[in-house]
Amino acid sequence: MDFKDKVAVVTGSGRGIGLRIAERFHESGARVVIVDLDQDQIGRLASRFGQNVLAVKADVTSAADVTALFEKTTEAFGRVDIVVNNAGVTRDGLMIRMSEKDWDMVLDINLKGTFLVTKTAGRIMMKQRSGRIVNMSSIIGLAGNAGQSNYAASKAGLIGLTKSAAREFASRGITVNAVAPGYIETDMTKDLPEEIRETFIKNSLISRAGQPDDVASAVLFLASDAATFITGQVLTVDGGLSL
Ligand code: NAD
Repeated sequence: MDFKDKVAVVTGSGRGIGLRIAERFHESGARVVIVDLDQDQIGRLASRFGQNVLAVKADVTSAADVTALFEKTTEAFGRVDIVVNNAGVTRDGLMIRMSEKDWDMVLDINLKGTFLVTKTAGRIMMKQRSGRIVNMSSIIGLAGNAGQSNYAASKAGLIGLTKSAAREFASRGITVNAVAPGYIETDMTKDLPEEIRETFIKNSLISRAGQPDDVASAVLFLASDAATFITGQVLTVDGGLSL
């Protein structure tokens, strides 16, 4: 896939799935904006990427940070072609014991963060009359999960947001889709007990754990010229785990 000179903003790209997405866009010719919370970490990554990269420290829950993010992006690169709303967290616990703080934090980052970024990027893309937005949902948003009511609600909410934004933006040449990964090996899942990991692998049809690259491939496809007629969709990337 060729993304030569396209400008791709990827939130939560300091590590894990987001980093792999940013790398794949960069390898395919895009100018990439790495967005995460730790300036040192993303600064080091930007040096590793070399040219055509901008590292912006931003908390997606802060409207001021998100505004500054897109000001810096347009200042550096002049436009915004692709946005991947990837930043996300878990704070697991059974609902009867879940604190309000853990509920709010997960909803704020995963769902409100995507709203703020989509709203701000959407204004720029509408003026351009083109754009691609890909939101990182999860199979947990489709099926729910005991101990993850906050995470499931945020990821299900993202599907509603995706479909609504697809309807609002379509006439301006902007597509909005979501990806719903299954079990992917990253820092987010590294502390899961071994038996849970084995159960995921056993229950998936393609008997292995997912890798960040598997998700990146789906994101790049939805952002590519091959997907111009696809909008408001959720693409599951789970090796058949949820089938
Ligand atoms: P990760 O924890 O390795 O990476 C998440 C990144 O988001 C981190 O670098 C973190 O600093 C950043 N981040 C967190 N809060 C932020 C904020 N407020 N502003 C900006 N950046 C912030 O996780 P991952 O596994 O790479 O997950 C990436 C996305 O994929 C998440 O949305 C996650 O919910 C989703 N996902 C992951 C899996 C999986 O199995 N790993 C499965 C389904 C969906």
